[in-house]
Amino acid sequence: RGSVNLANIDTFARSAHYPPCMKVLHSKLTDNHHLRHFGRLQYGLFIKGIGLNLEESMSFWKRKFAGKINGEKFDKEYAYNVRHSFGKEGKRTDYTPWSCSKIISQIPGSGEYHGCPFKYFKDETLSDFLTKKYDIQSRNLLEIMEKKREGAAQVACIKLWDATHKIDTKDNVGNHPNAYFSCSLQSAE
Ligand code: SF4
Repeated sequence: RGSVNLANIDTFARSAHYPPCMKVLHSKLTDNHHLRHFGRLQYGLFIKGIGLNLEESMSFWKRKFAGKINGEKFDKEYAYNVRHSFGKEGKRTDYTPWSCSKIISQIPGSGEYHGCPFKYFKDETLSDFLTKKYDIQSRNLLEIMEKKREGAAQVACIKLWDATHKIDTKDNVGNHPNAYFSCSLQSAE
């Protein structure tokens, strides 16, 4: 159940295992067949962290972009960055997935979807999004929205995790999206 691959990543992205920041990026990528640079970076490192290797990541991006960008253009303009994030180009740094504090400090411009939804979504947009994407009771939603309005993005995210999981083992949830995902997978075992 715990292994993510090209065939099941869309299912994982729709599940409660995915934190909101990554659900947003996955669904925008699926709908628009594109993400801008920082969105590709934030999401690319997350999917690397949940288990997609370089080859799978390359196929993933190519397949998602295919509705808009043909294979030749992809190889010319986008493949380098995928290899780069796996340390195969440039300085050869094997980059690690972004933490919540790094994501929260991002300021997405128009047409960009990276960053943390608890930080940059308008109240109503966030509330609609959470209702649609997670099985969540209105009492819990109110608590989450309260924390969001107080500017406590990470606390709001922990509250979402609590509202959508039955167990309480959540090391580093609220500090790292990859911890959100892996603790969620463990809770389902
Ligand atoms: Fe993602 Fe962290 Fe924001 Fe939660 S608090 S949505 S895991 S960046």
